[in-house]
Amino acid sequence: MTFENSLAYAKKMDTNDPLAPMREQFHIPKHSNGEDEIYLCGNSLGLQPSRTQEYLNYELSQWQKLGVKGHFSGDFPWMPYHEFLSEGFADLVGAKTSEVVAMNSLTANLHFMMVSFYRPTATRHKILIEDHAFPSDHYAVESQIRYHGFNPDESMLLIKPREGEELIRDEDLMALIEEEGDSIALIMLPGVQYYTGQVFDMEAITKAGHNKGCKVGFDLAHAAGNITMSLHQWNVDFACWCTYKYLNSGPGSVAGCFVHERHHSDKSLNRFAGWWGHDKETRFKMANHFIPMESAEAWQVSNPPILSLAAIRASLDTVKQAGGIKALREKSLQLTGFLRFLLEQELGEDINILTPTEDKAHGSQLSLTVDTHGIDGKVVFERIEAAGVTGDWRYPNVIRVAPVPLYNSFEDCYRFVQILKQSLQPE
Ligand SMILES: *Cc1c(COP(=O)(O)O)cnc(C)c1O
Repeated sequence: MTFENSLAYAKKMDTNDPLAPMREQFHIPKHSNGEDEIYLCGNSLGLQPSRTQEYLNYELSQWQKLGVKGHFSGDFPWMPYHEFLSEGFADLVGAKTSEVVAMNSLTANLHFMMVSFYRPTATRHKILIEDHAFPSDHYAVESQIRYHGFNPDESMLLIKPREGEELIRDEDLMALIEEEGDSIALIMLPGVQYYTGQVFDMEAITKAGHNKGCKVGFDLAHAAGNITMSLHQWNVDFACWCTYKYLNSGPGSVAGCFVHERHHSDKSLNRFAGWWGHDKETRFKMANHFIPMESAEAWQVSNPPILSLAAIRASLDTVKQAGGIKALREKSLQLTGFLRFLLEQELGEDINILTPTEDKAHGSQLSLTVDTHGIDGKVVFERIEAAGVTGDWRYPNVIRVAPVPLYNSFEDCYRFVQILKQSLQPE
């Protein structure tokens, strides 16, 4: 792609962008000067779609009018409500509708999945994760290892970048799986790494892991709604994602989970069960004998919070209106490509972009380090915030910015880089 470095060009890109009108489907926070913020934080908390309030109000009014009968009445009865999300989730992650379910929260789902897919033995007891994993994932893995009576020092295998590098090289990951595979029970890696924005080759990792007899699961917190995936075709064992980042379903909203269909009828799997995973036909017979559904729904334990699911439904309808994840990804590559082009043109050596350049190795997010002019990165971050940019700061020294295709514009990218440039000036 070739770009031009000017405001006029950015505006022209917006005029020609078929997804530009989607911005009106969102509430854009305002800066103190009354203008729209340059919101580049959709990787952390996505903005509120305009239909969300309507969908929530509908459920509140159903509850007012119907009480318990809301479970079975109206356009979206609560009893099967999670099923209204299956098609949208399946499209996002490349799955069959029977392979996905909305339930719990992300870290809780990682635990539930490990109950089923981390079955350590004396010789095969390791979990492979990345060295700089999101802390919650690290804690979950560590505690599962301990729960099974193993020692994290021996059973937690960390893949690290090479000395002096930030990204994990595919060949190093493959070599580690080849070398250690016989002792690895579970490989659990991100689809998109939260700190660097690196996209992992999920298909190749799954294949390499399966060749060695390991189970392979992914944390898609930063991948769902960001990049295209084919979990079913790739044979991934399980995956979990939250819905409040690129999926715009509100803070702490219910998470998503994928379990490959080849596991659905496996009676030997361990599972922490609850009534919502029981066969629908006989669930309300209240019998003592647990009969799991033959779908990802078998892993549900409780009846879900409908208000949160309504927000997810609003988000999925918004994605659908935009033409689905393929259309979003197409714009995303242009938008993030434009942002990188501007950063390189305007700031050259003054900032470092950790995120890989190749299309297949990045999503919306770029992770930047700033350490020039003797100005601390954190100070630069505070300056851009004061000038109306919302990004986020990740310890120890990264500014993450994610122009997202649903509501960010090429003009947002242009104006952000101008603000960042000014913020790098010595005082
Ligand atoms: C955002 C994120 C989480 C958050 O976990 P919750 O259980 O939703 O609080 C966990 N892991 C990763 C990789 C994340 O990016």
